[in-house]
Amino acid sequence: MKQPKVLSFLFLLLISSLLTGLLTPFSGLTFAGSSLHHEQEYPLSQLSKTLKTPFLTNFLGIYWPHLDTFKYDKNFLIRSSQDGKHWSPWQEVFLMTEGPDEQTEQKFDYGQLLFTKNAHYIQVKVTHLDLSQVKLGAFTLVFIDSRQPSIALAKQNKIKRSIAGEEFYMISREGWGADESICWTKETPTPQETVTHLFIHHSALNSNIAHEDCDDAIRGYLDYHVHDKNHLWSDIGYNYLVCPHGVLYQGRRFAVEKTMVDGKEVVTPKDVIGAQVVKYNKGTLGICAIGSYMGEVQPSKELQNILYRTLLWKVTQYGIDPLGHTPYTPKDVKEPQSLETVSGHRDAPLASTECPGDNLHAVIPALRNAVAERLKQPK
Ligand SMILES: [Zn+2]
Ligand SMILES: [Zn+2]
Repeated sequence: MKQPKVLSFLFLLLISSLLTGLLTPFSGLTFAGSSLHHEQEYPLSQLSKTLKTPFLTNFLGIYWPHLDTFKYDKNFLIRSSQDGKHWSPWQEVFLMTEGPDEQTEQKFDYGQLLFTKNAHYIQVKVTHLDLSQVKLGAFTLVFIDSRQPSIALAKQNKIKRSIAGEEFYMISREGWGADESICWTKETPTPQETVTHLFIHHSALNSNIAHEDCDDAIRGYLDYHVHDKNHLWSDIGYNYLVCPHGVLYQGRRFAVEKTMVDGKEVVTPKDVIGAQVVKYNKGTLGICAIGSYMGEVQPSKELQNILYRTLLWKVTQYGIDPLGHTPYTPKDVKEPQSLETVSGHRDAPLASTECPGDNLHAVIPALRNAVAERLKQPK
């Protein structure tokens, strides 16, 4: 019974607007497709006041001007509350280095999206920083309500895949309720000419997420990556996402290639350039594991299994040796670098990030080996 609350909120908004005789826009608050979204700037302080959210907030983003970038990594802490009395633990804000789109100028740095469940109150703390020594004056919170009616989840659109004799399913964008109206407002997706490397990410969502919240999370990422007026990414940054419960989701929209075969038009979906590793997006795909794989949190068997299948699918499609080290030349760099064909985000030589978390990073060699072993067996 999630949607009635959203509808009643909108209904009240409409009624109050009619009563005042004005359908004035609610400043900064938009309702596009499935998500409510609001941004608010706050002055930087060691500990904020208790901040009231504009609506029930299940995901919260944060961004700040692109200054002293790495100084703020893990120095913002955020907690949330439903009643203003009982609070979640403080969650560390990790600096995200997944985007923006290569053609977009980076004006802001931003933290990972935080899962705040049913938050009505937020508090922000700054640690390990002497505020008199930093240039940053303010930060902006992005409040998102990405819940959607269960009717949409009931008709989840699954695309069947069969790779090396192993069948699995991928939830399409329609299946997870992507709001297509907010994507690609500026240009059409750029198809990859070829793919040579695959990057594994984690979403650094500092919470154990239940499967019923996974669709909400992906709609939250889409909204955060695109809808934020300062980011202006063209779509969700990752090409694919996998969840701890063993489900694969399409991320970025595919490009469409149309060819004529025997007088009939054949439509082929093509992977596109993502916004997932700055300077390394061309010729690579990003697969993001929902969750944070630092500290105690280990990647589940289900997660490793769906990652294995997804890697097997992509290395087969592009003829990639999963055990290979091949050259890659990042954007604006002259000399090629040696990069393992299946890498974690942190393995990109120019990347400065803990993504995909120590514990997920630790299983990548085993995933490479498992894929290589499967490729040796008869199909
Ligand atoms: Zn990453
Ligand atoms: Zn899940």
